[in-house]
Amino acid sequence: MQSVWNPWHGCKKVSAGCQNCYVYRMDSVFGKDSSIVEKTKAFDYPVRKNKYGEYKVNSSDSPIYVCLSSDFFIEDADEWRGEIWEMIKARSEIDFRIITKRIERFRECIPKDWGEGYENVTVICTCENQKMADKRLPIFLEMPIRHREIIHEPMLESIDISQYLKSGKIEKVSCGGESGENARICKYEWVVNTRNQCVSNNVSFVFRQTGANFVKNEKLYHIPREKQISQAEKAGINFKALYNSECKKKKSKTEQYYESEDYKLDNPFNSILLQLSKSPLHSDISLSRKDRVYYLSHSIEEIQKETEEVIKESLYHIIPKDKDKHTREWGKPVYVAQRATGCCCRNCLYEWHNIPTNRRLSENEMIYIRDLLMEWMKRDMKYS
Ligand code: SF4
Repeated sequence: MQSVWNPWHGCKKVSAGCQNCYVYRMDSVFGKDSSIVEKTKAFDYPVRKNKYGEYKVNSSDSPIYVCLSSDFFIEDADEWRGEIWEMIKARSEIDFRIITKRIERFRECIPKDWGEGYENVTVICTCENQKMADKRLPIFLEMPIRHREIIHEPMLESIDISQYLKSGKIEKVSCGGESGENARICKYEWVVNTRNQCVSNNVSFVFRQTGANFVKNEKLYHIPREKQISQAEKAGINFKALYNSECKKKKSKTEQYYESEDYKLDNPFNSILLQLSKSPLHSDISLSRKDRVYYLSHSIEEIQKETEEVIKESLYHIIPKDKDKHTREWGKPVYVAQRATGCCCRNCLYEWHNIPTNRRLSENEMIYIRDLLMEWMKRDMKYS
């Protein structure tokens, strides 16, 4: 489930895409001046707690879209943004998505410890036409951001972003038309053109909604608000990249590792991990973004303790004491490591590591499995 967090409300128009801004349209109904930017009551939304001291917002509310009734990087909010970064950092298990038309302000708005970017933040740069794409995307690609997406919405013309997609730094592109009474048209051929650029560059693509005035085969369709999303879905043109485009451009995890200094250290697991990397069933397994956030938000000692517990519960006995544990607690990196290393069950342990199935694990075997799982997680964090 996704949710929205608007810590401030109000904005100033900056480009053609803002012409019929829905914030202005909605505010006008109540006679409100949208150009005044104000903090909202939801300012501390992600860190609010209930009477038991638990966060009210939990990971099932993720991803959270930030600032949909303003722009996260607007100047008027400069004095408040620091607190927002603190909240985002405090909730590292939640994905926050920030959509902006002010990417040129990015560097002056990030916190001191931003580094190459927080793992749980995706920045989404919107460009409604070619002029804005060529102005904003070169800046966007230069900024230290871990997860980048592009949105063409409202899409006002055919836009060529191939040169930016080739960078391998863009994870997804979304397109959509404009809604509202005075909506400008969106043409299906523009959307398909963007989709084809994404497919050519193995970047995920989503057609989010048609907008109110949609042209297909030179025929204009007026589409009611409630059908704009479903009509876009019906087009069936969404595309899921085979794997993250950034990985595609880099050498594979295995290639990088076996060229690295780490490999030259003659690690005892080099041989088995090399064999696993050649297995079609195991080589593509990698930690998801959620797993990576989990790994980073725990100490190595905590991950190791958890790994030891999982080995005891799922592998130590001939018949695992808790054979449903995988499904119940899916989402922890150790379970991914088990699948990737042939340690998910006693049969795989025998097949890959020659550990007999007809007796309990010995102390040394448990240590071997623990160290192998820890080594795999460490490498995957570093090289994927
Ligand atoms: S940047 Fe977004 S919120 Fe601000 S005026 Fe433009 S469309 Fe509206």
